[in-house]
Amino acid sequence: MPCPTRPPATLHRSNTLTGLATAVTTALALSTLPGHATAAAPTAVTAPAATPKAPAIQAVASFSILGDLVRQVGGERVQVDVLVGPGADAHVYQPTPTQAKTVAKAQVLFSNGLGFEGWMARLLKSANYKGTHVVATQDADVLAQDADDGHAHATHKDHGHGKAHAKADPHAWQSVPNAFVYVRNIAKGLCDADAEGCDSYQKNAATYIEQLKTLDAGVRTAWAAIPVGQRKVITSHDAFGYYAKAYGVTFMSPLGVSTESEASAKGVAKLVRQIKAENVKALFVEAISNPRLIEQIGRETGVRPAGELYSDSLSPPGGPADSYVKMIRHNTTALTGAIQAKK
Ligand SMILES: [Zn+2]
Repeated sequence: MPCPTRPPATLHRSNTLTGLATAVTTALALSTLPGHATAAAPTAVTAPAATPKAPAIQAVASFSILGDLVRQVGGERVQVDVLVGPGADAHVYQPTPTQAKTVAKAQVLFSNGLGFEGWMARLLKSANYKGTHVVATQDADVLAQDADDGHAHATHKDHGHGKAHAKADPHAWQSVPNAFVYVRNIAKGLCDADAEGCDSYQKNAATYIEQLKTLDAGVRTAWAAIPVGQRKVITSHDAFGYYAKAYGVTFMSPLGVSTESEASAKGVAKLVRQIKAENVKALFVEAISNPRLIEQIGRETGVRPAGELYSDSLSPPGGPADSYVKMIRHNTTALTGAIQAKK
């Protein structure tokens, strides 16, 4: 199935412009200095320390959610290009030749890892990428895909390997405590690529982690109002395993952990029976997935889809989930609202 690809979002151009403006101002200041130009004392033209003199470093993030985290930590020093933009699906993505050029020019590249970007190794090779590569889930609390649900393993082309070992669920960003780990890894990676900016990255990371702690507490408060037995949700694919574990919610889905697979008729029928038996009232489509399957399940169960969740992608700018913090808030409000509305 072809997937929507978008041109990389180019962000934080303003730093370059600020740099230019500073250079022009400095040149003007120099040209208007009285006396002999050659005799000007260096101390008289020292640039203000607060203005970053170094050009912006270029970073690439594999998908929109990670791109936002990199932006939060990088601030104005870092230009962030995102490969898989808002609304696009990283599971089935195919990089463009232009994006290989963008990657080749970057000093630091961030990926999620855990098999999320199956196309990354080939992209790095074709771009002959030599910069820093940061796997944002390094040292994160990783969950295995659920092998007992009968569909998670259908996504992988490892026929014959059977149940050699459980694969990791890549959607680690859906638990806010894991986002702390992403942010620390991002700060480390930016420091490696740009030592001069390290203090600023560490400071931004610390400030942002404080925001994430508030976010995490807010999610816990929202769920605390709902008895655990009622916290049951149907979504298109298994993207919320980490959210489920962190916040005590049960998610069921007709697809596995990847959107690459087709849901089997048997899997869908089983889910329909389960929804009826367990009286599940919260049915959601995901922004990156075809809503048809969820709509079919809605018809067969009499449960109306309650809205859209953002799992693997942010919304376009100005949408309800155009940053990581807004995405988690939007999903939490939508989920708890759907369950509470139909009690
Ligand atoms: Zn996914």
